[in-house]
Parts: sequence; structure tokens; C-alpha cells
Amino acid sequence: MDLYEYQGKELFRRFGIPTSEGRLATTPAEARAAAEELGGQVVVKAQVLTGGRGKAGGIKLADDPADAERKAQEILGLDIRGHVVRKLWIERASEIAKEYYLSVTFDRGAKQALFMLTTEGGVEIEEVAETNPDALARLHVDPLEGYQPYQARRLIYGAGIDDPGEQKQLLDIIGKLYRCFVESDALLCEINPLIVTPEGEVRALDSKFTVDDNALFKHPDVAEMRDLEAYPPEERAAREKGVTYVKLDGDVGILGNGAGLVMSTLDVIALVGGRPANFCDLGGGGDAEGVVEALEVILQDPQVKSIFFNIFGGITRCDEVARGILAALERMTIAQPIVVRLDGTNAEEGRKVLADAAPEGLYVEATMLDGARKAVELAK
Ligand code: GDP
Ligand code: MN
Repeated sequence: MDLYEYQGKELFRRFGIPTSEGRLATTPAEARAAAEELGGQVVVKAQVLTGGRGKAGGIKLADDPADAERKAQEILGLDIRGHVVRKLWIERASEIAKEYYLSVTFDRGAKQALFMLTTEGGVEIEEVAETNPDALARLHVDPLEGYQPYQARRLIYGAGIDDPGEQKQLLDIIGKLYRCFVESDALLCEINPLIVTPEGEVRALDSKFTVDDNALFKHPDVAEMRDLEAYPPEERAAREKGVTYVKLDGDVGILGNGAGLVMSTLDVIALVGGRPANFCDLGGGGDAEGVVEALEVILQDPQVKSIFFNIFGGITRCDEVARGILAALERMTIAQPIVVRLDGTNAEEGRKVLADAAPEGLYVEATMLDGARKAVELAK
């Protein structure tokens, strides 16, 4: 789960990492009030779950409350790479002498946390890694040994930071960021830029924060930060029902059991010239309840013209899934044609169950390719 800048900064603050004071605003009037409270020059920042807001016009300095209101007006509703701005973070403006970059992420290959620090902050880190790799200092932290301050010193010297005042503050920030990363069960904590003010104060000016979804149960306060409005309505409904669903932009609704099978189903639909409307994984079960919930989610998408049900029986038996489909069809009316492909454990029995009931608009195919062809044809 990705956090907004203002949410990430809130977690930073809880762990003692210095940030600027700010307020959340959703209307130009609120932005004005926030600027009044903060006093002086402020920066109006679009809150969207994507980076590069500065370049896209989503970050603007404002000299006074009236100016903040105007800038808020300009930024609200802006589309930044498919993300519409609905929230603003109004922050006391900082004077910037230097822009550094600091992050800690989970290096899966090394099975350790990885810190990166460079004095070339402000720009995308991939760019620094490509054009000036030597400027990027890296440091792994062994999870058993834990973080040791001498490691941070090595990182700071590695990045070529020689000002003693900055070194001292960085040492403190790196230790706190490690605690923040571990204790929040984060996968990424990135500060870009980490600024040095003309007075020599080091502070986090931005935050990019990703928390491991699988650990959210340990952090109910963080789980609550999820902004359901940032997801398409179908994905919101899926989340509520516990269905694994991702919206795509085609017209063939897809339902399968197992993420790998569903991925290949998307490929096969594309192979026969169709466009999948979604990714949807039923998971292990194929009972009526699961089928109904998945179908309800898929059918929320008005673009869906046909549905391809691709099942490979393993532990889940095809005849059970077939009964699940029939029970689901009894409970709900579906206008779109449904193609079912059953293979694997008890496939014969499953196909027989469907053939005997023969509900209208239901087509049974024996192979994935034939099923995909039929579903694509029916979507035309
Ligand atoms: P991003 O573009 O999404 O990464 O957003 P950032 O929060 O990193 O801001 C982008 C850039 O805007 C920063 O690198 C700064 O140069 C500038 N900026 C952001 N906040 C301030 C501020 O308080 N004062 C000044 N002078 N510039 C700022
Ligand atoms: Mn940034």
C-alpha cells in the first residue's frame, strides 16, 4: 500500500524525522485558511499516488493566503499521469540550499534492508544511478545484526558529505528512518529531496512510503490511511468482498482460479485478438458464494460484453465449480454470455453438469484457446 506524501510525513514525524509544518486541504478556501494559520510563504502540493508532481505543475509556491487559494484552484482537479488531484498538502515553505536523497528499501536479492544516499537529490534516483552511479552510496543492513551507527557513518562518508553539522543530523535521521522502516513494516521509505536549509538544518521535504500489505493487520492506524476513492469503483467493491481484481480496459470479463492461470488467460485473449476487461482470481474455492461475488465485481464494469470463466481443477474439483456456477446463475440475472472452460480434476463430470442444466447464454468449451475464441467472438 502506497501512502500519500502527507501520510508518509506523519509517520516520519512519529519517529522523530524532521519535516515542515503543514495542513491538509481539499478546497481552495481550506488552502487559504491553512496558509493563514501557517503564516508567510507556503507551498501548495498535490497529493497523488505518483511521483514527479513538481514537473507536472502539481507543486507551487504561494506568497500569501490569497495566492495559496489561487494556486489551490489551479492544482485541484489536475490530472497527473492519470491521477486526479483531490487533496492538497499546504506546507510552510522551506528555503533550500542543497537537495539530497535518502531512502531505505527492501533488497529482495540480498534479503536485507538497503539504504541509498546521494547529494544529487531532487531528481529521479534512477537518473542518478544511470548517469552518475559513483555519487550513489549504498549500504545493506543485516536484519539479525540490526542497524549500527557506524554503518550510517560509512554511508554518509560514502556519499561525500563532509560538513560536521550535516553529518550529525544525518546520523540521527538515518537511525530514525531505519526504525521507521522496520517498525512500520515498510517496503520503501524515500526522502527526495532531503534538504539542507541555508542555516544548515536537514529536513525531509517529500516522502514516498510503501507499507507491506501483508503486515497491515499489525498497523490498523496505517491501514485506515487507505484512500478508497483513489481506486476504480470496481476495485473498491472487490476489496470489500475480498476478491482479487484489477480493472483493465477491454470488454471480455475474465474469471479464473489461480493468479498464474488468470495471467495466461489474459495472454490467450490477446492472442486471439480480444481485449480483457479485467484480471480476476477466484482463488482456491469455486463455491457459489465466491462465484457470485466475483461475477458481481466483474459486472460492475459496463464495458464487459462477454465473460470467460477459465478453470483448471486441481484440489478444487471442476464438478464443484460447475455447481457453483449454476447456483450463481440461479441467484443473479446476467445479460452477457458466459463461456466456461473446465479442465483438470473431474472436468468430464463438470462439463456434464453444465450440459445437463444447459442454462441460456452459457457455452462450454474444452480448451483454453477455444474458450478464448468463443468469448472474444461473443464480445463483438
Ligand atoms: P515530486 O516532484 O513529486 O517529487 O515533489 P517534491 O515534494 O519532491 O517537490 C518537487 C520540488 O519542488 C522539490 O525538489 C523542490 O525543488 C520544490 N519544492 C518543494 N517544496 C518546496 C519548498 O518548501 N520550498 C522550495 N523553495 N521549493 C520546494
Ligand atoms: Mn520528490
